[in-house]
Amino acid sequence: MIAGRTRAAAPERPLTMTPPDIPTDAVLAQLVDAARAARAHAYAPYSRFQVGAAVLDDAGRIHAGCNVENAAYPQGTCAEAGALAAMVLAGGRRVRAVAVVGEGAEPVTPCGGCRQKLREFAAPDVTVVIADSQRERARHTMDQLLPASFGPENLK
Ligand SMILES: [Zn+2]
Repeated sequence: MIAGRTRAAAPERPLTMTPPDIPTDAVLAQLVDAARAARAHAYAPYSRFQVGAAVLDDAGRIHAGCNVENAAYPQGTCAEAGALAAMVLAGGRRVRAVAVVGEGAEPVTPCGGCRQKLREFAAPDVTVVIADSQRERARHTMDQLLPASFGPENLK
């Protein structure tokens, strides 16, 4: 170990993803399946609005989460927050793709707060797949969901 250094520096975050980093449609389908499975575990007794989310990390691992409501409403957490917490716990630090699954007339996209939470670990060109229990509903990039975003690069 180099004297004076107790921790390795965080890896540089590329501003865009290059081909080996871009997930295939087959991998995105696995991600959607994981989000669907997570949605089945949602704790949403108040809204009955169940959501599942899954993130693909830089090691190719999938981490899922579901929404967890609370009788003190603001204390509830979104599915995306649960998936990110699982990724961080497992040592993941980069999101290569996101899937969010919910039911509704309109595609269930991440809320504003979750868009920022995802942005902490996801580059602007990361794909976010929106699906319901039956099919894919929409596909966006992080930059489309959160344009001109503030991210970790701003604090370097
Ligand atoms: Zn949210």
